[in-house]
Amino acid sequence: MNIIETKDDIIVIDAGFQFVSEGSKAPGIDYILPNTQYLEERKHKIRALVITHGHLDHIGAIPFIMERIGNPPIYTQYLTSLMVMKRQEEFPQLDPVDMHVIKEGESFTVGKTHIKTFPVTHSIPDAMGVCVETKHGDVVITGDIKLVHEDGEVVVEERASWEKVGLNNNLALLCDSTNADRAGFSASERLVFDTLEEIIKNSTGRLIIGTFASQFDRLISIIKTCEAMGKKVIMEGRSIKTNIEIALQAKLLEVDPKVFITAHDINNYPADKIVVLSTGAQGEEFAALMRMATDKHKFITLTERDTIVLSSSVIPGNEIAVQKLKDNIYRKDVKVVNYQGSHVHSSGHGNAGELVWIHQAIKPKFLIPVHGHHYHLKNHMWAAVENGFPRDNVAVCDNGNILEITNGTEMKKLSVSAPVESVLVDGFTVGARQEVVLRDRLSLAEDGMFVIIATVNAKTGKLRKSPDIISRGFVYLRENQQLLSEARVLIKKTVEKQTERMNPIDLELVKDDLADVVSGFLLQKTQKNPMVIPVLIGV
Ligand SMILES: [Zn+2]
Ligand SMILES: [Zn+2]
Repeated sequence: MNIIETKDDIIVIDAGFQFVSEGSKAPGIDYILPNTQYLEERKHKIRALVITHGHLDHIGAIPFIMERIGNPPIYTQYLTSLMVMKRQEEFPQLDPVDMHVIKEGESFTVGKTHIKTFPVTHSIPDAMGVCVETKHGDVVITGDIKLVHEDGEVVVEERASWEKVGLNNNLALLCDSTNADRAGFSASERLVFDTLEEIIKNSTGRLIIGTFASQFDRLISIIKTCEAMGKKVIMEGRSIKTNIEIALQAKLLEVDPKVFITAHDINNYPADKIVVLSTGAQGEEFAALMRMATDKHKFITLTERDTIVLSSSVIPGNEIAVQKLKDNIYRKDVKVVNYQGSHVHSSGHGNAGELVWIHQAIKPKFLIPVHGHHYHLKNHMWAAVENGFPRDNVAVCDNGNILEITNGTEMKKLSVSAPVESVLVDGFTVGARQEVVLRDRLSLAEDGMFVIIATVNAKTGKLRKSPDIISRGFVYLRENQQLLSEARVLIKKTVEKQTERMNPIDLELVKDDLADVVSGFLLQKTQKNPMVIPVLIGV
C-alpha cells in the first residue's frame, strides 16, 4: 500500500495483504494487513483507493480495511473490479463498495487531484500504472511490472506506452523492486507459453501442471492450448477455479465449456487427453497437488505414466514445504519437469535491467523503490545509481516511512513514521492486539505449558491435598518424577506462606506470586520457560 498526500487530498494505491509462510514465526496467523491508523485519522481527506491489479498482495486487505478508512470509492480496471467484488461476496456483512471501473489508459479526477493511468505488463490482465498529478509534477506508481521484450529489445507497443508517460513532467517514480536483485532482463513469458504448449502437445499420458492461480495469463494460455489439442482440463483447487470463472466472465478466456471436466470423470477419457491444472506448487499441505502426491485425493492417484510440471518458482520461506512435496511426488516415480531444467516458469516482475530501462523512459526527478525486502530495494537503488541516477535523489524506505517533497525540488524522510505495528488476521479475528496471542503461541511452541491445579481451604489457606500438575510440550512428566515432587512441595509452601498473612484470603494475588515462583524454579531446573498457569480453587 502506498499513500500519496497533497494539501487537499489523500490517494491510496493498492490494499494487499502479506501471506504468512511456515518459516515466519507466526503460527495460526493467516495473513498480515497494512496498519491503517494513519489513514483512519485522516479519513476525511481520502478521495480514492486506486487498485493497480487483481493479485491478493494488492487487493487482499480490501474487505478488512474499507470500513476503517471510510469506504472511499475504488478505481480500477474491469478484471480487477471483478476480483475485488468476488472477494466481497465472502463478507456479506460489509457495506457495498463504491466501484468505479475505468478503461485502459483512462484518466479521472478525485477531489482536486487528477489521476492518469497507463497499461503495464504483469502476469495478470488489466494491470495498470498510475500517475497522480501534483502542482510540481506527476508521481508515477508502476504497480507490479515486467517488460515484453525480445532478447532485451523492448517491443514497440510496450516502448510506446512507457515513452508516452515519459513525456509528462514526472516528479517521482515508485517502482516495483521484486526482482531487482536479478541482473539483465527476465525470461519472457512467451517462451514459457511455447514450452508449455510443447509439453502439452507431446504428452502421451496424463499431465498435471502445478502453478499459481495468480498466473492468470498462463492459465488462460494453457486452457486455450488444451482446447486446440482436443484435450480436457480438470481444475483442482478453489483459487484456480475462482480465477478461471472470473476470466470466463470477463471474456478474457473464450473456450467451449466442454473443454472442462471434473476429476470425478477422469477415467472416462484416455490418459493422453487429460491435463490437470492444480494449486499447491508451494507445498501447501492441503492443496490438491499435495493430496495427489500423498494418495489423499479422492479421484486422482499418481502413477508412473503421469507427468508433473512444476510451473512456479519457490517463494522464499516455502523451501521446506516444497522439498516435502517433491519427495512425495518423486516417490510416485512420475516424470517431473521443473522450472530450473526447462522454461516452464518466468516471474511477473522485471529484473534490474528492465527497471533501469523504465527509469530512463520515465525520467523522474526522484526514485522510490517499492515492493520487496530491504535488499531488493537496495539492489534497485544501486542498479539505478550505476546507470547514472543521482544517489541523493533515491529514497529507500521502510514500512511506515513518510517522504516529503517540498516545492518539487527537495525530498526528505520525516523523522516521524506512520504506525506500522502489524495487523494480523487470525481466522475471523483482525487486530494489532493479536500480537499478544501470537507471543503466547510462540512461547507455547518453544517451551510448552505447565498447569497447576490446587484446592485451597478458604478459611485456613492450607492446601486440601497435593496439587495436580498437567503439562504439555514441556518435559515428559513420567520421566521427571523428581522434578514434579519438588514442584509440588514448592507450590504448597508458596501458597501457604502467602495465605498465612492474608485476611481475607485473596487467591488472585496468590496466583500471580505462585506463577512467578514456579517459573523461576522450572527455569533453574530445566533451562526451559514454559507458560505457567495456576488454577486455585477456594473451598
Ligand atoms: Zn502482482
Ligand atoms: Zn505484487
